[in-house]
Amino acid sequence: MSFTVEERGNPNTLSYRLFFKNADGKYVSPFHDIPMYADESQVCHLYPIATKDPLNPIKQDVKKGNLRYVANVFPHKGYIWNYGAIPQTWEDPGHKDEDTDCCGDNDPIDVCEIGTKVCSRGEVIKVKVLGVLAMIDEGETDWKVIAINVEDPEAKDLNNIGDIQRLKPGYLEATVDWFRRYKVPDGKPENHFAFNGKFKDKEFAIETIKSTHGFWKALISQKTNSGGLNCKNTCVSAGDSPFCCSTDEAKAVIEGVSTFLDKWFYYEKE
Ligand SMILES: [Mg+2]
Repeated sequence: MSFTVEERGNPNTLSYRLFFKNADGKYVSPFHDIPMYADESQVCHLYPIATKDPLNPIKQDVKKGNLRYVANVFPHKGYIWNYGAIPQTWEDPGHKDEDTDCCGDNDPIDVCEIGTKVCSRGEVIKVKVLGVLAMIDEGETDWKVIAINVEDPEAKDLNNIGDIQRLKPGYLEATVDWFRRYKVPDGKPENHFAFNGKFKDKEFAIETIKSTHGFWKALISQKTNSGGLNCKNTCVSAGDSPFCCSTDEAKAVIEGVSTFLDKWFYYEKE
């Protein structure tokens, strides 16, 4: 299983898009077409994807017309893990979670990958799930799965949340602190957590991921209202998804997005 990315637009501008292709060179949606399971481990892809755009390319978050950057809340500098999401999952905004008493945030489930290697944008990796944190962001459930790249040299020693506490002391506390405070520079309140900010173990995390996979299945088969999300895909079988489109249609989506913009402009001088 390997995926490549194709850039459109200019990096660090509103035009930038990163589209995904599978090993056959076919355009795919990283939200819907990349399988959630690779063997018994989960896969994740990195960087926020545009859930409302056709084929869900990666693009930088926009806030009030400007590119959004994550603030450095002392002592944290940028992200303290590789941040991404598990494909084929969805936190259903119409479903109230029993434990958090809040509905989902309308996104695929987020992952913090705690390995040593800094992943590149759009890299698809296999991860081992270790636990989960139940964040409440302005009244919405926003699970944060904690996982490790299966290729990390320490992956064999990390099998549950307690192993992180033992082998990487301080990291879990720093993670809660990061999520509690990262929106404060944007004028937002601190985030809250269910379970008093305690991480749940691997088994709990796997059950949570499974339930979000169930919500995604209902979404992609149009059994749930899509709530503005774009479900266009190329690999979910057409019988299972009315949103499945042809290779040509997918190509037309990518070709409709501007390519690099640094081209010459010509006009006649007076
Ligand atoms: Mg989320």
